[in-house]
Amino acid sequence: MAPADGPRSGKQAKTSQRTGNLKRKRVQDDLSSLVQQVEDLDLKGKFESFSDLPLSEPTLSGLTSSHFKTLTDIQSRAISHALKGRDVLGAAKTGSGKTLAFLVPILENLYRRQWSEHDGLGALIISPTRELAIQIFEVLRKIGRYHTFSAGLVIGGKSLREEQERLARMNILVCTPGRMLQHLDQTAFFETHNLQMLVLDEADRIMDMGFQKTVDAIVGHLPPERQTLLFSATQTKKVSDLARLSLQDPEYVSVHETASSATPSKLQQHYVITPLAQKLDTLWSFIRSNLKAKTIVFFSSGKQVRFVYESFRHMQPGIPLLHLHGRQKQGGRFDITTRFSQAQHAVLFSTDVAARGLDFPAVDWVIQADCPEDADTYIHRVGRTARYERDGRAVLFLDPSEEKGMLRRLEHKKVVVERINVKANKQQSIKNQLQNMCFKDPELKYLGQKAFISYVKSIYVQKDKETFKLKELKLDDFAGSLGLPGAPRIKFIKGDDTKERKNAPRATAYASSEEASDDDGEEKKTKKPKEKEVRTKYDRMFERRNQDVLAEHYSKLINDDGTIAEPTKGTADADEGDDFLSVKRRFEAGDEDLDVGGSSDSDSDGGVSVPDAAGEKTEGGAKVVKISDKDTLVIDSKRREKLLKSKKKLLKFKGKGTKLIFDDEGNAHEIYEMEDEEAFKARGDAREQQAKFLAEEAQRTQAADLEDKAVAKQKKREKKEKRKARERELIAEEEREERVAQLAPYEGDRNMADGAYSSEGEDAEVEAPRPSKRAKTQESEEAVPWYKQQKKKPAEEKRIQTLEDLESLATGLLV
Ligand code: ADP
Ligand code: MG
Repeated sequence: MAPADGPRSGKQAKTSQRTGNLKRKRVQDDLSSLVQQVEDLDLKGKFESFSDLPLSEPTLSGLTSSHFKTLTDIQSRAISHALKGRDVLGAAKTGSGKTLAFLVPILENLYRRQWSEHDGLGALIISPTRELAIQIFEVLRKIGRYHTFSAGLVIGGKSLREEQERLARMNILVCTPGRMLQHLDQTAFFETHNLQMLVLDEADRIMDMGFQKTVDAIVGHLPPERQTLLFSATQTKKVSDLARLSLQDPEYVSVHETASSATPSKLQQHYVITPLAQKLDTLWSFIRSNLKAKTIVFFSSGKQVRFVYESFRHMQPGIPLLHLHGRQKQGGRFDITTRFSQAQHAVLFSTDVAARGLDFPAVDWVIQADCPEDADTYIHRVGRTARYERDGRAVLFLDPSEEKGMLRRLEHKKVVVERINVKANKQQSIKNQLQNMCFKDPELKYLGQKAFISYVKSIYVQKDKETFKLKELKLDDFAGSLGLPGAPRIKFIKGDDTKERKNAPRATAYASSEEASDDDGEEKKTKKPKEKEVRTKYDRMFERRNQDVLAEHYSKLINDDGTIAEPTKGTADADEGDDFLSVKRRFEAGDEDLDVGGSSDSDSDGGVSVPDAAGEKTEGGAKVVKISDKDTLVIDSKRREKLLKSKKKLLKFKGKGTKLIFDDEGNAHEIYEMEDEEAFKARGDAREQQAKFLAEEAQRTQAADLEDKAVAKQKKREKKEKRKARERELIAEEEREERVAQLAPYEGDRNMADGAYSSEGEDAEVEAPRPSKRAKTQESEEAVPWYKQQKKKPAEEKRIQTLEDLESLATGLLV
């Protein structure tokens, strides 16, 4: 590092200026030659390794240090087109290296344009999920470590304001659609007019219905004359989609078009026929017989993931279990994916949030416990294994009713699956265990009920009615297999979509008001108009209770707060105005805050009851009960009647009591009691007594005030001392770190060995004064650009432990 004190001698300055000029010229020459090479690049040429492509030194070094040498097919073909500025539609199987096929051109195209901090946002990468965005960002961080671009992650899950400040200075952003749009709409100074490249990873997913509006709005903010790259294993070629992105004469690069299978060649694919009611048995038996494997299990909803995770965890299968769905907090999601990545043996239960793009190392098995909605989803789910030259195995669970339809869909998409059977001697039944667990733990039962409802709903909303036939599923048995005493009732709805209603039998018109999509950014809720209800076979089925297995009270539903909801009457008198229909709960307006105790589940104070006959009258059919001297309660429903059994609950309906104080003899007194008037008069003139009382009280207040002030002062002093001590510690730590790392601030470093990538133009300028220690403390790590930290020890990658680490890295990318 150059000394900060004293001017240099004239000779020294001249030499360094000359060296600087020479260096600058060399870089300029290299750049022009690179530009020329890209221009001359033969698109028909076959490139074996990254060094065969006209790539800049920083990119090549980044690739080499990350151990990437030979190109995969999609990289070999897509990168060359993208380098030349063409729009690319890239299609290649899962795990074939598409990420580098777009990251390398981004780095290169911005590098050749000498993109800098002042040029603003140069490239935007959109990912359908946060997990995938994080992963792309990590790869970018690895291979881009020798570049000077700033890059960031915009995935939501933290304060918008924090992100806003940094965005304006970012060159490359990896984002999820929802959060990105929020910034484009709300963040002042966030300019996108200079954007050169837009990349959609998992493009078909981003272009589909769920993200349609968001993506169109984002694109509306971007300049039309940009380069656009779309990548997916199941690529969209729909003209309307491409028009939405204003693609210009795109190059369709499809490397596996002629392959016999749409899935990786090293992937073994099977399916088993397992009736819905035996699905969990089969899954449990599978897990128990594969304890030394790394497995992902896909379900159709977050509720199912939660139930299976919670119940299997209780049964201790002997392998770590993890679960992932879109409703988890971001920090938790990040921890789970990190843990699963690092685990050697583990089972991850997940929704389709993990179906696309995620590159968990060495996954042995992908189990699809719930049938995927279409063949594309199948392809992406199984693609979590057998990635980049590794092998892997996948098993699809199918209900007999789903077999024909699904196999046809798969065949149509060139997916070859082979039927296998479960070994009868390995199949274990966990139904009884689940029933016991649900019986003992109302929360688990509640999860089971939710899982059931969300499964039924997921089947109902499926578009492919040839595969998903709700009518043919044995729902009662399924409920029993989850440990439930009967199928939770789901209210019927009609009239949501006339077309769909015509196609679907009325009896299958289910939906649940409590279910929301588990997918990021997707909303599947729709409004249902009122309509008169008709009782159907399914209605009656849901009404039936399992009489012999468990007690009657047990079949009641449990409310969100863990209390038991009352059983409802038949559907004939059901609420008709609900938008979405679900498990029926009947709470009168205004009564929602009441705990409703079941007959045998009543609260601890439930034993105390108000005598039934006390003060009862009949008033227009409803009973009026006197619950205290002043208060009465109208009993017009069964639930109100139950209230009478709990003193605690009745308190809510009684008027306010008065506070009494007991003296040493145990006599009750009111807080303020009037003194005997005669005794008061005997003590002298009333005015004098008042003046004396006021004077005494004023003195007491002053004394108390002084004491309070002293305490406050002391506290303030202590706080200040603590703060100072903390500051001292920070400075000491800073100095310690500085001594160890010896990282020079960017502006002052003239002797850096790898200064070739730093801004040479500043060489001859007068050195900026060193920032004071205190200022440094505040800026802390952000003052040292990320690529410099990396440069010193490229081999010793900082281990990212939490999302915060990653975010601080993202901010550290700022130049
Ligand atoms: P895709 O996006 O096509 O599903 P990824 O880009 O996630 O695939 O890459 C899959 C795996 O292959 C990753 O672990 C990645 O590190 C590895 N990989 C990609 N390209 C190469 C390469 N050229 N050489 C070695 N490994 C590679
Ligand atoms: Mg990918």
